[in-house]
This record gives sequence, C-alpha cells and structure tokens, in this order.
Amino acid sequence: MAASMLEVRLSKTTKARCVFAACDLKSGDEILVEEPYAISLSTYQDRCDYCFSDRNKLLRCSRCKCQNYCNTSCQRSAWVLHKNECKDLQRFSPGKPSETVLLVARLLQLSKKYSKESNSSDDFPCSLSELQSNHEHFNEQRKKQFVKLLSTLKNYCGDQLPSNQELLHLFGQVTCNSFNICDPEMQSIGVGIYLKSSLLNHSCSPNCTAIFVGTTIHIRAVKAISKGEECSISYIDLMNPSHIRQRMLQEQYYFTCDCTSCQEELLDAEMGSVTCENCSGQVLRRDDTSFQACSACNTQVLPTRISEVLHIEEESRSLLEDCDSFSEKLKSKSKGQENWQNLFKLWSKLSIKQAGVLHIENVYRVRTVDKLYDVAVNLQNWTDALYLAQKVIQSYRKLYPSFHPLIGVHLLRLAKLQHFLGSFTMAIQYLQQASDIIKVTHGLQHELYKQLEEIQSNCIVEARFYSSDTQDKVN
Ligand SMILES: [Zn+2]
Ligand SMILES: [Zn+2]
Ligand SMILES: [Zn+2]
Ligand SMILES: [Zn+2]
Repeated sequence: MAASMLEVRLSKTTKARCVFAACDLKSGDEILVEEPYAISLSTYQDRCDYCFSDRNKLLRCSRCKCQNYCNTSCQRSAWVLHKNECKDLQRFSPGKPSETVLLVARLLQLSKKYSKESNSSDDFPCSLSELQSNHEHFNEQRKKQFVKLLSTLKNYCGDQLPSNQELLHLFGQVTCNSFNICDPEMQSIGVGIYLKSSLLNHSCSPNCTAIFVGTTIHIRAVKAISKGEECSISYIDLMNPSHIRQRMLQEQYYFTCDCTSCQEELLDAEMGSVTCENCSGQVLRRDDTSFQACSACNTQVLPTRISEVLHIEEESRSLLEDCDSFSEKLKSKSKGQENWQNLFKLWSKLSIKQAGVLHIENVYRVRTVDKLYDVAVNLQNWTDALYLAQKVIQSYRKLYPSFHPLIGVHLLRLAKLQHFLGSFTMAIQYLQQASDIIKVTHGLQHELYKQLEEIQSNCIVEARFYSSDTQDKVN
C-alpha cells in the first residue's frame, strides 16, 4: 500500500531525501504504516515496556524489577533486547535511567546486531546509519545534555561503549529523528525511532499527521494531496506563534521553516492577543512588545498595561514549562485528591491573574485553561470541567489546523462530559463534530473511533429513553 502511494526523491532546494505523493491522495488516506526500529517507554508510565499497553495487571521482570509486561508473550519478544539491558538495570542505581538513555543503549545494541547494511526496494532508509545527526549544529544546552547523557550511559552500560564521537553522532540522530509515541488521546507515553517516517519533513500547516496504534506509527493525509506534492507532518506543538515555532525548530532540527503558516500574520497576532481594558474585546499583537488598537473600540494599549501583560506571560511560561514534568510524575505516582487540590490552587491563581488581561486565544491563556480543565476532571468538578473545555475548544479550533488530532480528541472529551451530565442533544452534536475529524486523523479502525461510535449509540438510546420519559410525565 504505502510503497505505491509515496515516493522518495531529492529536494531541489535542500538536496536531502523527501517524501512525495506518488498519486493523488485524499484527506483521510493512510499513507504509511511502520513498526518502530527502537522504542523507549517514558519513565513514569505504568505500561508494558514492549507494546505500551496500559492494562491493569502487568508482569514485572523478576530480575531487574524495572520493566513490566502484559504477559509472557510480550516479555519473550522484549527479551531479545532486554537480556543485556536487564543486567545493566540491576546494577544501575539509583532508580532507572531516563527514556533517552534507554533508547540510546537499545540503539547501540541494535547497531551491533544489524551491522551489515541491508537494501530495500524503495529509497526509504533501511538502517540507522542513513539518518541525519546534525550534531555539528548543537548549541550549548544540547552539548550539556550530551555530557549528562554520556555520564549516565557510562554508569549504566559500563565499559562497552563506542567512542565519544560515535555517541555524539548517535545522540544527534536521536534528538532530530525521534517521534513522541502518543496514546489515543495524544498524550506522549514514550519515544521511538521510525526509519521511513523520519524522512517526512516539517510544515506548520502539514498535509499529514502521525498517530499511533500501540507502538506502530500511522501516517495519514489530513488534506487532499496532489501527485508530486511533498508530504509533511508537524514536528512541534503548533499552538505557538511563528517566532517561537522557528526557535523550537532551529534548536532541535536546525532549519528555518518557510511554510505558509509562518507567513500568516493574523494567526500570530491572535496567539499573542490581549483583552481590551475598555470594552473586553480582542486586541491583536503587533510584535513582542506592542499591540494594535482594539478592533472594537479603537482604544490603545497603555505602556503600564503592556508591562503587566509581559509580566503575566513570563510567569505563565515558566509555570507551564516547570509543570509539564511535574504533573507527569504526579499523574503516575499518585492520583491523590490532595495533589490535585494543590494543582487546582496553582492553576486557578495563575488563571485569575490572566483573566481580563490575556485574551482566550492567547496561547498562555489557552494552556492554563486546559490545565485547569484537566484538574477539574480529576477532582470530578464536572460543571467547571464542561465550562473550561468549551473555552478551550473554541481556541483550539481557531489556532490549530482544521484537521488536527487534538481537536478531535478534545471534542470527544466534551461529548463524554455532556453525555455524563445528561445533555444528550449536546453530546450528539459534539460526537458528530468529533467524528468528522477523528475519521480523518485516526481513521475508522482506530480504538478512539470505536470508542466514539459506542458513546454515540448509547447517547441515541438514552436520548430517546429520557425524552419518552418526560413525555409520559407531561401526559
Ligand atoms: Zn505488552
Ligand atoms: Zn529485567
Ligand atoms: Zn512554518
Ligand atoms: Zn475595546
């Protein structure tokens, strides 16, 4: 299937291999399905280390007590690599090395196994050595990360390591080619190397998306793509203004994006917008430190207001960055009510500062409201959760490309909430909107779509039941 839909050619501008449509593709076409070359589960995930399933009862490796498996079948398949790793894990202390260290160590094992180059019929890469490294472009921060990795790796794998130069090359390959493996709701659960998929270039307005079934990657078209057109995915979170996207791409992938979205000034202006002090309307951003006049009442943003905005944005940025790793630990280690209460205090404090200053389309505001929504769900404050989710979806619809997996996931969450609260008509409406997107981004065979269909049929039955119930009472 994939072989006939795609072809690999050299780009005229960069002279690098790129992926092009070999025929006309429709939105929703699955264009590439690929098993991972190597994977590594995130440290705080309680999942099978082989297939990433999160079933309730997992078997623990009795020797290292570090890795879990669904059953003996997953354990046996993992043993090929785990055999050597198990000894290293038993010696390693304290705790367990990071997911990147585990991935690099697994790649080292694989490179010994498959040292001979294999050939494939198409021009896709078929060995790790064909992937770019770009380590010569490492910035100071990346160099520091490498030094840290090197010392953990020495502690973990002992003396059998290749030269530092070879490890540097490998670390470069990992940083610019690895994919975040996501669960059906698009939360990252691990990292993986996919040789073919890594040839797809980035666009901030991509015509394809990557989703996962277990650890298998599925690349799907989210727009119609004409024969000969380049296929692209997004490497980063697109809910960032273009100057931040450019910085992220430069720091991790060493290129400047010149896609159509990066020229779109309106989208940037919205992502940085603030609330008008006079009429509460949306005030668009001009650049980092200046704003346009309010489009509704023409009021100018005063310098004191600008410094207030910058201050709140800075505080939001640092909290959001710190909390990503913090909440991941929290979610897996303990689902205690008390921790969620603390998070609730933290996010609502920030949200109160932002309210009336940052517009709901400002990316910091959207992210904070999204965090609050997550906390509300975990504290089972369903009415708050519904209110927050509705705010978030409006901004997602505006700021993400139309067929982005996160929009579908979020619409489905909203539908579940409405269903739970007994608003069946609203639930059915959201399910329809979610279905329109998930059909394209995840496909009809995906677990998430099946889940959607099930809720849909329940909703229809319940809606009928309750409406006849009310009629009975009226009569
Ligand atoms: Zn498994
Ligand atoms: Zn073990
Ligand atoms: Zn771009
Ligand atoms: Zn105004």
